[in-house]
Amino acid sequence: MTHEIAVIPGDGIGQEVTPAAVDVLAAIDSVDFDFVEADAGDAVKAETGEALPQETRDIAADADATLFGAAGETAADVILPLREVVGSFANVRPARSYPGLDAVQPDTDIVFIRENTEGVYSGIESEITEGVTTLTRVITEDASAKIAEFGFDYARQNDFDDVTIAHKANVMRETDGLFLDAASAVGEDRGADYDTALMDALAMHLVMTPEEYDVIICPNLAGDVLSDLAAGLVGGLGLLPSANVGEENALFEPVHGSAPDIAGEGIANPSAMILSAAMLLDHLGYDEEGDRVRAAVESVLESGPKTPDLGGDAGTDEVAAAVVDAL
Ligand code: ATP
Repeated sequence: MTHEIAVIPGDGIGQEVTPAAVDVLAAIDSVDFDFVEADAGDAVKAETGEALPQETRDIAADADATLFGAAGETAADVILPLREVVGSFANVRPARSYPGLDAVQPDTDIVFIRENTEGVYSGIESEITEGVTTLTRVITEDASAKIAEFGFDYARQNDFDDVTIAHKANVMRETDGLFLDAASAVGEDRGADYDTALMDALAMHLVMTPEEYDVIICPNLAGDVLSDLAAGLVGGLGLLPSANVGEENALFEPVHGSAPDIAGEGIANPSAMILSAAMLLDHLGYDEEGDRVRAAVESVLESGPKTPDLGGDAGTDEVAAAVVDAL
């Protein structure tokens, strides 16, 4: 069976790390892929006036899964609608430390399960008058319960013991009150062991004692911020993959953005993107192949070559080739 994969490199280092992940997937003999490349982001907007052309939406909608690199200035016009195209409601962001890297916290293994359809990313913003703006934070019981169900299922299926529900219900009483109640009700229904944590205090605890956390279920913005914080604990954004999971379709992307400061230099760390491709393999049912890719990345992270963000002097292509060799 051949799997059709939409490949959308996007902007900046997305153009450099996406081909690396495609090379790794293509090196897996036991799975057949048909890669269909599509445009999105700043460059295509400058050319056509549209950051996410209809053709790209159609390719992503029809594919078995999508690999997405990064978007720059147009990120909100690209990734938010693309997540809708694939019907994604859960953003899964694992943050792990690896042997051989100089991590701030070498004993970190946390998976953030981030709600990604609502919250402050609702897009409902307005300027009431000059100098005064508003944003509507949408939280629904259905979406909160759905992300909690996904999070508790994920913890059980992946043998994680601790589930934490992050919130700020003491201040955002209505919206996060509802999120907390709906997510807690799922935990109660399942007789699951879980904790709740105020997201600001949680940020401090994550820096000091990350080893105490396994799966953290978060509203949209909190998941975005806390997972970047966790990236800092394990060695930087070049290491964090993510999956945007829907009922039937899914999109895989690194947590990092287009990194304009290093784009075009050929030194971006491709690990986050390659680990996202490993999550794509899991999603399609190729768990063993996903594990092989993770093991290959791990061995290269440990023994090199390494990109400059990890203290080495290798380029993106050299690291990608080493991962293919390790496979
Ligand atoms: P965007 O606005 O597109 O999200 P950004 O600059 O705000 O871009 P990132 O692209 O996530 O955010 O980059 C944040 C920092 O992390 C930058 O200094 C960047 O160079 C670094 N970084 C991100 N991804 C990588 C990577 N794959 N390899 C090396 N460094 C990276």
